[in-house]
Amino acid sequence: MDFLTLDRDSFRYGEAEPVVPLVRRVIAENPSKFTYHGTGTYIVGIGDVVVIDPGPLLDSHRDALAAALDGSTVRGILVTHCHADHSPLAAWLSAETGAPTVGFGPHGDDAWDIGDDPPVIDPVPETAPDEAGDDSGAPTEPVMEESTDREFVPDVVAATGDLVADGKGWSMSALHTPGHTSNHLCFALDSGTTRTLFTGDHVMGWSTTVVGPPDGDMAAYLESLRVVAGRADDVAIPTHGPPIGDPARYVADLIEHRLEREAQVVAAVRDGLATIPAMVEVLYAQVRRELHKPARRSVLAHLVKLVDDGTVVLADPTTRPRLDSTYLSA
Ligand SMILES: [Zn+2]
Repeated sequence: MDFLTLDRDSFRYGEAEPVVPLVRRVIAENPSKFTYHGTGTYIVGIGDVVVIDPGPLLDSHRDALAAALDGSTVRGILVTHCHADHSPLAAWLSAETGAPTVGFGPHGDDAWDIGDDPPVIDPVPETAPDEAGDDSGAPTEPVMEESTDREFVPDVVAATGDLVADGKGWSMSALHTPGHTSNHLCFALDSGTTRTLFTGDHVMGWSTTVVGPPDGDMAAYLESLRVVAGRADDVAIPTHGPPIGDPARYVADLIEHRLEREAQVVAAVRDGLATIPAMVEVLYAQVRRELHKPARRSVLAHLVKLVDDGTVVLADPTTRPRLDSTYLSA
């Protein structure tokens, strides 16, 4: 799987810069392991505009958006999902402009307890190179998971096919793509000549997407990837990372990558690795140990799917799959 990079010298934090016709991007200065160089907020349209994912509660980003939107009329605030790097500034922007927020719904309720995660024991000093290859100023204390904005409730609820915005010569509709979160939306911009899909965190240019149960759902994620792969978009624009040309082929590669990982999890269980920490030690042996905690969530996501389709069984079949469950081959 070949991921893309966004050259740190190719943009400036807080500057509204054109990405494709009709679309400007302002990148927030919140770089991390989950956000790459930071959250990309997109402004679509000329004069009358919509804003996609206003971003995190960061004064510098709020001020940058205010400056970028000066002279424009904000008609709508579109939110892909409610992680803390995407939705929190929507409330400010809505209060400031009177524009409604648009989303699939609030963040989903956690359907079950995924249990306790034992610490990752680090037997050797950290010597592995940074395989992400970034110098993005990631925090020295690894952030283990994305935090969630549970305050967000959209003014306008949108589902697949709903028209969520339009302007002179363009229109934008919603596409429900559950998987990263259950409420994740992509937004499809049709300018008459170009079809652009804003993919939020569903498809990222620089990395795979975190799929963490219980709200994250691998079966739903793969299905949502297939939906995107089957579309005829000219370009996909993720929240984090550069635009993706030929999205259908890129997303087909992402599906392949996930299915390879799934096959590895099946093989690990068949080989007698019965716990998630044991599987991660083997499957992610080449990956920095500070990433083993998120890797465990990812393996759990595969195991939920495999338990649901009957390939793997739980030693205790009365529970839903947990981080501390024992897994057996069916
Ligand atoms: Zn996210």
